[in-house]
Amino acid sequence: MDARPFGIARMAIFLFLPVFAGVPAVAAPYRTPNFAVTAPTPALAKEIGDAAEIWRRKLSIEWIGNEMPQWSRPCPIRAQVAPGMGAGGATTFVFDHGHVFGWKMDIQGSRERVLDSVLPHEVTHTILACYFRQPVPRWADEGACTTVEHPSEIAKQERLLIKFLKSGKGISFSQMFAMKEYPPEVLPLYSQGHSLTQFLLERRGKPAFLAFLTDGMRDENWARAVRTHYGHENLYALQTVWLDWVKQGRPRLQLETTPGALAAASHVQPTSAGSDGETFASISAPATSQAVAAVSPNGDGGPPAAADVTPITAGKSVYAAGLSKTGDALRDASRDPGTIKR
Ligand SMILES: [Zn+2]
Repeated sequence: MDARPFGIARMAIFLFLPVFAGVPAVAAPYRTPNFAVTAPTPALAKEIGDAAEIWRRKLSIEWIGNEMPQWSRPCPIRAQVAPGMGAGGATTFVFDHGHVFGWKMDIQGSRERVLDSVLPHEVTHTILACYFRQPVPRWADEGACTTVEHPSEIAKQERLLIKFLKSGKGISFSQMFAMKEYPPEVLPLYSQGHSLTQFLLERRGKPAFLAFLTDGMRDENWARAVRTHYGHENLYALQTVWLDWVKQGRPRLQLETTPGALAAASHVQPTSAGSDGETFASISAPATSQAVAAVSPNGDGGPPAAADVTPITAGKSVYAAGLSKTGDALRDASRDPGTIKR
């Protein structure tokens, strides 16, 4: 964790595009055991630093069962805070031969959203990075980090998901699971990743979700991993049952003690508060993606072919999404493909 040998790959995690131009520099950062915070005022820096430590402890216990050891060097946090400012963040770090280090976190938003959404989101990226010590599939990484945000931010993702699914912007699971990079339009990936993660967490909890990711990341055979950990025959079967759940208004699910309890049921059972059902456009994928054909409705529905796990080719290597203050706009971040993986 201390060394920085040659050939390192730097990875960046963006929630939304931060805009830091013109941020007034604060000379002395507020130091905690794991963070060094610069913010518009010393009081805010202290509040953010203390909150970051609390989130780090709480979320690492929730996700991995114990508090992460203290990092060898504190993670610098640059915070931009102003009333009404769009919430956003970016965390970069370095993976190298099973080590992760070189943390750097930029966050922005209103004081409230920085403390209750952006910080826990970005801190969760560091927890998952420390746990897996390799890049986590985009949908799962962003999905997991979004589940710890404030309910108002989560509600925003859920509204966006319905909008995307109705307008044909749903991403086929075969494509989504193969994504190593962020697609040109990242918001559908965030909202769909969040929804699927929530679906899987409700069914079998966090340890099973992490075990599922660990298994799938071993050889990218996600169909096998889905079968083993959730009891679905392949990614298309998972996609179908997830979509049914979304259509029915995301009814609260009972925790399954063994894989496949939901897969064995014919339908997700809605609660009394369930909606009458949503109508979505079919989830399709670009014709260029071989991965899609393997689990498309017209496919053979059999075990995953090699194509099922072929990473798609992303057009760009560095992406970030930006939400305007109204939460709708999308824009690309500046990029540095040599050092940042998103
Ligand atoms: Zn993120």
